[in-house]
Amino acid sequence: MASYSLDDTIAAISTPLGVGGIGIVRLSGPGALDIAQALYRDARGRPRQRWEPNRLYYGHAIDPRNGRAVDEVLVSFMQAPHSFTRQDVVEFDGHGGPVPLQEVLRLCLAQGARLAHEGEFTLRAFVNGRIDLAQAEAVLDVIQSKSAAALGVAVNQLNGRLSVQVRALRGALLHVLAYLEASIDFSEDDIPPRDVQPDLLAARDTLQRLISEADSGQVYRQGVRVAIVGRPNVGKSSLLNALLRTDRAIVTPIPGTTRDTLEETLLLQGVPFVLVDTAGINDADDVIERLGVERSRRSLNSADLVLMVVDGSTPSLPEDRDVATMVGKRPALLVINKADLSQVDTFAGLLPGVRTVHVSAKTGVGMVELEAAMVEAVLGGGLQASAEPLTANPRHRAVFERALMHVAAAVDAAAHGQYGDLVAIDVRESIDALGEITGETATDDLLQTIFGQFCVGK
Ligand code: GDP
Repeated sequence: MASYSLDDTIAAISTPLGVGGIGIVRLSGPGALDIAQALYRDARGRPRQRWEPNRLYYGHAIDPRNGRAVDEVLVSFMQAPHSFTRQDVVEFDGHGGPVPLQEVLRLCLAQGARLAHEGEFTLRAFVNGRIDLAQAEAVLDVIQSKSAAALGVAVNQLNGRLSVQVRALRGALLHVLAYLEASIDFSEDDIPPRDVQPDLLAARDTLQRLISEADSGQVYRQGVRVAIVGRPNVGKSSLLNALLRTDRAIVTPIPGTTRDTLEETLLLQGVPFVLVDTAGINDADDVIERLGVERSRRSLNSADLVLMVVDGSTPSLPEDRDVATMVGKRPALLVINKADLSQVDTFAGLLPGVRTVHVSAKTGVGMVELEAAMVEAVLGGGLQASAEPLTANPRHRAVFERALMHVAAAVDAAAHGQYGDLVAIDVRESIDALGEITGETATDDLLQTIFGQFCVGK
């Protein structure tokens, strides 16, 4: 797949560039040990005679041209095939500064190593059968996970839980295909007739379950984008502050592409809620702007969940209705604020069918109920908070959708008594689709897209 060799020896700095306690230069390939031999000297300045795998050797990395030590290091050697890439792997653990790490890397390159491409260590692990494609993707998800729950999904995937299920499903479909193809080629006398419909129906059920798991996985991975909307003075910014005041909140201001975009993340029962476009709400001078239809529409359009705030202590105003119209049919909660004051309006019928929660952003009354309602709104509809999803990857969901489409077509065709060719074509398509998850049928383009997202050194 790659336009470069996967059998030569590569090197890269595998820890983040910057200052840290330690930093690691990693080597993989047949020349890794020779390079370690050339660059390593023990505490007394002597080269090693014998390297045992899976041990740490203390000493220095030296420049062989002049014998000068460039850093104090621990060197480890993992022998093929018992390593991440299934090739010989050597790691120099040195001090975590850009200069010593660059120096050690430069010496490795001078000894004949090639600088690794993005994700090339993981790519080699995949190509050499150490991990499958779903596991390789999980490496990236582990690194990038935004919450403990998302990390749990990624680690499960890394451990092969998704792969096991996909392989089993693919195996069952291959069985069906083998029968279908045999029945096309041979007469009924040679092949005992068999009803493949139960197997196809079981495959359909499994795919439907996998899609729904991918949906809940997605919630953990991407977070739920929440827009807080309402006319001025109903208490939007007070509500935002009340939500963020709890110690479960992780406030992470993410500077957006425009100066006034700010996102803050709130973790509720492991689900990250991303409160979008909060800068506009916080900005006291921005009354006109925050009323602006355009702004509200923008934050509404990117929202997975809308909190429409109204003021329970004043009668409903035409502006409330305008905002409600804009919210439309989006998933929403109606938050009746200022419950600490006497209530004059119930706002019945403002957002038909939408759950109402009474809160006081000022005293905190009702906030627990609101938070529970937010979690339920995203995980209630078929998504399970407790079930550990197998995947959070949108690519996997798309593959499951495609496989499901073909299996459903096969079920249909078989129901109409059309065994043979037509059913076989759909079964084969679904088998090929599933192979893209674990990598058996992944195209070069797909592999390049996936591994291109990695950084150098991973
Ligand atoms: P926004 O314009 O929708 O962002 O509303 P603010 O959060 O700025 O609140 C408008 C006014 O209502 C401020 O004076 C707040 O102190 C007040 N306010 C907000 N929430 C409550 C509440 O729950 N109870 C009471 N009594 N006042 C509130």
